[in-house]
Amino acid sequence: KGRTSRRPAAARVRVAVRLRPFVEEDSSTSESSCVRGLDSCSLEIANGRNSQETLKYQFDAFYGETSTQQDIYVGFVQPILRHLMNGQNASVLAYGPTGAGKTYTMLGSPEQPGVIPRALKDLLQLTWEEGAEGRPWALAVSMSYLEIYQEKVLDLLAPASGDLVIREDRWGNILIPGLTQKPIASFTDFEQHFLPASRNRTVGATRLNQRSSRSHAVLLVKVEQRERMAPFRQREGKLYLIDLAGSEDNRRTGNQGLRLKESGAINASLFVLGKVVDALNQGLPRVPYRDSKLTRLLQDSLGGSAHSVLIANIAPERRFYLDTVTSLNFASRSK
Ligand code: ADP
Ligand code: MG
Repeated sequence: KGRTSRRPAAARVRVAVRLRPFVEEDSSTSESSCVRGLDSCSLEIANGRNSQETLKYQFDAFYGETSTQQDIYVGFVQPILRHLMNGQNASVLAYGPTGAGKTYTMLGSPEQPGVIPRALKDLLQLTWEEGAEGRPWALAVSMSYLEIYQEKVLDLLAPASGDLVIREDRWGNILIPGLTQKPIASFTDFEQHFLPASRNRTVGATRLNQRSSRSHAVLLVKVEQRERMAPFRQREGKLYLIDLAGSEDNRRTGNQGLRLKESGAINASLFVLGKVVDALNQGLPRVPYRDSKLTRLLQDSLGGSAHSVLIANIAPERRFYLDTVTSLNFASRSK
């Protein structure tokens, strides 16, 4: 399909949909899936009440319920890592309603590791190889981990530091002054910082109305390079790995007060994210990055020369039907 693009093709955000298998105890026996894969890029969805009526969607990739963590990683995420070594930025975002598999996709379990541990291992490996003595560049990897909750930017590696400010330098790089940045030389280093911070987030979850599904969890991995000989150039690549807040429409579930306010903020930032992806994929001249903290943060890592992928997670159960349609529309809007 012809694209009237003012930007290089690289600015497009690639979109995959991942359907998780039935996981709810009683659902697999009593229900049939309302989603059916057609091929490696498309699916159809049937409304429960009238199964004759189906909607078809197409994406850059479709991963069905038997797809593995390895399939998603190798097929959709691993190819973007090498760009970091060239000093370019990248981001991976998991989108979808609570319960559809975002955290499984990004984090997974010790037996079924997801995108985050796989990407970290590969990135560290690449860094050792490319930064070895005798190679032209010295490399250093570091991580930051933050949460965007109700339009506040919170440092998960220093929870007491409060709302942080997002700034842009004169070269268009986005920075967060004061954000903790930990050097990581090994996967063990990574886990030492990441696991306690993730746990904090989950503990907060039960106390604060499942806050973890109401905030965006943003892991930032930076690869800094310094040339070993003159002219001693420097370059930096950033990788954002993001478990987005649940995309469910909480108005439907009758939330009030704080939770209604929360879902308002979540919906607003996901709405802006949708507009940004849309603008990038259609090559529109104005991309509304500044309309939310999330997109402002991603301004230098989504679009431009950055390599970005969005994984929309969907669930097969009929009670997810409306959320699934919302996700598929979000994910396919710009096709
Ligand atoms: P979310 O983060 O979007 O709220 P989760 O990742 O927590 O959703 O997934 C909900 C449940 O489904 C969890 O118990 C998770 O382990 C399980 N699950 C999600 N995706 C898969 C998958 N592809 N295969 C097996 N189990 C999955
Ligand atoms: Mg989750």
